[in-house]
Amino acid sequence: MLKVVQTVSGHHIKARNSINMTDVVETSETTGEVNEGLKEISKEFLESLYTQTKALEDVAMDEISLGPWSHSKLKVLEKCPLQFFLKYVLKAKIPAALAGEQDTSAADIGSAAHRILELIFKGYTVADAYAGAKKEFVPEKLSEEMWTANIETVEYNITQFKERIDSFKQRHKVKKVYTELRLGITRDWKATKFFAADVWLRGVVDFVILLDNGDAMILDWKYGPPAAGGIRNFKQQLDSYKPLINFGLVPIKGATSGVGFIKDGEIVLDQFTDKEEIEGKMKNLIEWNIEGAIESTKEAKAFEHRVGNHCKWCEFAPWCKAKKADGNLKDLEKSTSKFFEIKKVE
Ligand code: SF4
Repeated sequence: MLKVVQTVSGHHIKARNSINMTDVVETSETTGEVNEGLKEISKEFLESLYTQTKALEDVAMDEISLGPWSHSKLKVLEKCPLQFFLKYVLKAKIPAALAGEQDTSAADIGSAAHRILELIFKGYTVADAYAGAKKEFVPEKLSEEMWTANIETVEYNITQFKERIDSFKQRHKVKKVYTELRLGITRDWKATKFFAADVWLRGVVDFVILLDNGDAMILDWKYGPPAAGGIRNFKQQLDSYKPLINFGLVPIKGATSGVGFIKDGEIVLDQFTDKEEIEGKMKNLIEWNIEGAIESTKEAKAFEHRVGNHCKWCEFAPWCKAKKADGNLKDLEKSTSKFFEIKKVE
């Protein structure tokens, strides 16, 4: 059966569009050769997670070995250590035939809007940025209908962002503008390359304006969330960018960060933070949060699964079936307790 799927291109499988990956994993009904083949791949993938975990002898539970860190990687450990284990320790990759079945349209819509903003702030006109991004996303990742409904509808908001930023630039002395800025720092907070061997903390910052007076304005673009929700939920992410810029790019005098809510066309800014706070409290908070997430995992004595809203975005959800008492990964979670056993000193 496996052979059947391997001869079917991902495009062909997608074109049938009637196969939902959760069904593939969860149902025992046979709906055709392709479905059977996908089930087989899914089963093999699940087995491979168990085999790899069994083969793994040790996981060093310290902040260096588990790094390099990013805000999103830390969030995964805080929210669900089991997902962290699968994603960052085992580095499990969803088989290509099944990955094609996952609905990534929400993420692709966000990426397309980000790409347009990136192109605009690199100097393209709004029209050219739209045309360039469309070529990248349609029809490969988004259908024409999705583009029209989700991307064309925010053109006015994106144009307004550009006008607001242009007006800000006219009112302030701007030293440099960065877009999609990739930053890396070492464990002792020295600048390093994003992919360097000694990188300990990384971040990709959507938009930064450095001013002549030494201040920075940092923006993160968000497509989906409503502006009415404010930036409280994004504060940890925004705060993490300030030390990253200060230590990983250039020392700054202070910074203001905020979120550009694309769907609502609103930019909401946080309060200004001075250098002392960036190099003190904010830097320390990143270290404490990483240590805290590791300690909490160690206390549980396993990479435990933690169910929540984040399961919606978890690529392993179809296998985890976390809400069911007999979740597929329950035994795998148990088997990770070997990494937390106290070793006897010989
Ligand atoms: S589905 Fe939820 S509980 Fe299961 S691994 Fe993913 S995030 Fe954790």
